[in-house]
Amino acid sequence: MTVPLDAAYADQLDAADDLAGLRQAFVNDEPDLIYLDGNSLGRLPRATADLAADLVRRQWGTRLIRGWNEGWFDLPERIGAKIARLIGAEPDEVIVADSTSVNLFKLVIAALRARPGRERIISDDLNFPSDLYILQGVADLLGGRYEIAMAYSSDGIHGPVETILGLLDRNTALLTLSHVTFKSGFLYDMQALTAAAHAVGALVLWDLSHSVGAVPINLTESGADLAIGCCYKYLNGGPGAPAFLYIRRDLQEQLVNPIAGWMGQRNLFNFDLDYEPAPGLRRFLTGTPPVVSLALIEPGVDLLLAAGIERLRAKSIAQTEYLIGLWQQRLAPLGYTLNSPRDPSRRGSHISLGHPEGLGIDLALINELGVLPDFRAPDNIRLGIAPIYTSFRDIHTAIERMAQAVIEQRYLKYRDHRPAVT
Ligand SMILES: *Cc1c(COP(=O)(O)O)cnc(C)c1O
Repeated sequence: MTVPLDAAYADQLDAADDLAGLRQAFVNDEPDLIYLDGNSLGRLPRATADLAADLVRRQWGTRLIRGWNEGWFDLPERIGAKIARLIGAEPDEVIVADSTSVNLFKLVIAALRARPGRERIISDDLNFPSDLYILQGVADLLGGRYEIAMAYSSDGIHGPVETILGLLDRNTALLTLSHVTFKSGFLYDMQALTAAAHAVGALVLWDLSHSVGAVPINLTESGADLAIGCCYKYLNGGPGAPAFLYIRRDLQEQLVNPIAGWMGQRNLFNFDLDYEPAPGLRRFLTGTPPVVSLALIEPGVDLLLAAGIERLRAKSIAQTEYLIGLWQQRLAPLGYTLNSPRDPSRRGSHISLGHPEGLGIDLALINELGVLPDFRAPDNIRLGIAPIYTSFRDIHTAIERMAQAVIEQRYLKYRDHRPAVT
């Protein structure tokens, strides 16, 4: 694939993009900075900044405890219902609570209890490490009864689909995977794998952290049982925003929250001494939600809903294809490798490019060249395309600066650096 290499072509693509105007809905005080890390921390919507001021000054400052009856109490379901529209779920099948990791813990234990006698949990080596740690912690907590069967990718890029299919058996309680994998951006076929797991009677739990807001998802059509996802990446909910969880409606009353707490109690203000779960998804709440950061998720979700996930996906594919075209001509000759699937239907919205000097290049981009990607060991420079605000010109500039980093050997200076957050 050849794409024109000049910046004017990027500008032409931006001029033809009907979503280009949405960039203005986000705070951007450093126009020269190329931000390609929206898959780790999305940009700040302007409306969120205004809402934050209102929440703190007016809602907290003047409404005080009355705020709970003026909208705070219902926030977990209300924002959950909006996220449901992004992931093909019913409004009462999604609720916002806790962090992604904690939601995974709750749902894994609930799923295992719903499949008594089965001892196998299946995942893969492309999954996010926190997810694997949670699985290991759960297996340990439950006294070594469970075996975590890992499927290994042959190239570190594509998900080991055949191995997973081979591991699924009548002893399997749960299959859990990242829908889009965090490093290579591989996109699993949710419907096919869910059907395969159901064929042996297992439950499936999808981590949507890297797909929600970037890829159309239809949990209902896929027959998905359980899902979790992150709100601070493509949803632009802000650093450490609480996460969401999904439980298919017919499973909600069967599953038990292992972290029972008063927010999940049927009549919490009766202060009964014995726990009785609330109907529906509220039973998967535990303690008081972080109202400020929870409320701040909403404007970002509204922007994605207004843009439309199908249109965002079409733009994301056009942008990742453009990026790969530029990589092939400009960066491959400089030693960069494509560490993401070549087929757009099998990848999410970020592209990983490898280079033997990857970390040094990443640090030169951040410190000297005005590009913010992120780095995932051993050699991946991860370029997150957030189609709601990334422009084609951003991509063009980033690729030119990545070429410059190698041509001018900017990485040499950083050989001994090891930053805490990459
Ligand atoms: C980002 C991400 C998480 C984040 O979990 P936290 O509990 O918010 O730290 C979890 N899983 C996946 C797949 C992710 O991409």
